[in-house]
Amino acid sequence: MISRIDLRGSAYADALRDGAIDRDLLPRAELDVEAALEKVRPICDDVRHRGTAALIDCARRFDGVTIDRVRVPAAALSDALATLDPAVRAALEESIRRARLVHRDQRRTDRTTQVVPGGTVTERWVPVERVGLYVPGGRAVYPSSVVMNVVPAQEAGVASLAVASPPQAEHGGLPHPTILAACALLGVDEVYAAGGAQAIAMFAYGTDDCRPAQLVTGPGNIWVAAAKRLLKGRIGIDAEAGPTEIAVLADRTADPVHVAADLISQAEHDTLAAAVLVTTSAELAERVESELKTQVAATRHTERITEALAGRQSAIVLVDTLDQGLAVVDAYAAEHLEIHTADAAAVAARVRNAGAIFVGPHAPVSLGDYCAGSNHVLPTGGCACHSSGLSVQSFLRGIHVVDYTEAALAEVAQHVVTLAEAEDLPAHGAAIKARYGWKVPRP
Ligand code: NAD
Repeated sequence: MISRIDLRGSAYADALRDGAIDRDLLPRAELDVEAALEKVRPICDDVRHRGTAALIDCARRFDGVTIDRVRVPAAALSDALATLDPAVRAALEESIRRARLVHRDQRRTDRTTQVVPGGTVTERWVPVERVGLYVPGGRAVYPSSVVMNVVPAQEAGVASLAVASPPQAEHGGLPHPTILAACALLGVDEVYAAGGAQAIAMFAYGTDDCRPAQLVTGPGNIWVAAAKRLLKGRIGIDAEAGPTEIAVLADRTADPVHVAADLISQAEHDTLAAAVLVTTSAELAERVESELKTQVAATRHTERITEALAGRQSAIVLVDTLDQGLAVVDAYAAEHLEIHTADAAAVAARVRNAGAIFVGPHAPVSLGDYCAGSNHVLPTGGCACHSSGLSVQSFLRGIHVVDYTEAALAEVAQHVVTLAEAEDLPAHGAAIKARYGWKVPRP
């Protein structure tokens, strides 16, 4: 069901390129976002030119839903909250409380550095004015992604935020009621029934009833990722957060029942989801394989999970040592990385590349998906080697405020003029001299 990649013995040395594991040898889905760009371009252009009418057409084409408006009425939000199962409400409230604790701690304070007496640079953190938050709703619906998008935006102090999620045929063309209830719990009253590339275009260009946003965040499928890539520049985006991934680094101390359950939990998201076990123990590999068979057969989304585990993006990677295992997981740069080894905290401290790290037997990814307090919108496809997950920081811009007195400028004027001349930009130097009777001042 799940393939094996054996990097033991001389195979490990063969897998190295310039001292690091060759990423091409590791399992990964072939997600052709570039090809999807061609498909989403006309969708985005249509939304740009026809606004709501285009969104209504897209809902019919891609979601199989006939709707006559895209903005969700306020009454639908309050009704969804009023009819929300009390247990789900309590769980969402706890998820929000924990996410708030963590994200509130991420807030940045402005810092002023005195470069010289009379010369300061302040880094001022300013929230983006308006953001569009995408909450997926194709194969599964993600009220948890409402929490993960909205809480950091609110904690950053974003003044205006809007949520979009696909219209659902079985809910009268509205987003899923639990998504609406989550929005209501968080005090978000601007919600749109729009999914896929068209939702990203709605936020980027604006329509008759949705003001354009400066930044669009949130996870989604390949069409969402392609639209974000296409419209980046007009809008800011977070990292591309596509089909989910779990990597588990384990030694012989790991519990195969837990490891298999955790791999399955992420394979459940999508047929393109990736589940990768990197282990020093051939015995554990065998026991996990056997557990996968038993547990997959007993779970609800057997077909989807079987396809995800059998896909080229999923595998069990065998290595000889934990150091080699660390090199593999660093090269893979998983969205989620679990560590199931002896002294898991020490091993986790050595990991360089991951969207989020889950340490030891009591921190499964499912905890992070909902209630750890950490954010679950994380970089996928290897982007964790250069990008972070969603955080308060994603919604802030650091503005440098430069404040120099006449004497502080005079002190460094000669260096500025010299560098300007070295770059053959004499007008830059002249802008300094003009302040001192067209001479380079003496400090
Ligand atoms: P989605 O909301 O991302 O996509 C559904 C939309 O795709 C539909 O509304 C439709 O408009 C559009 N669409 C469907 N088929 C299309 C087609 N042929 N052409 C153009 N548009 C089309 O929901 P999803 O499909 O369930 O995907 C959600 C993804 O988000 C999953 O892969 C999941 O793993 C991922 N996810 C990632 C994270 C993360 O942080 N990385 C978190 C949660 C979910």
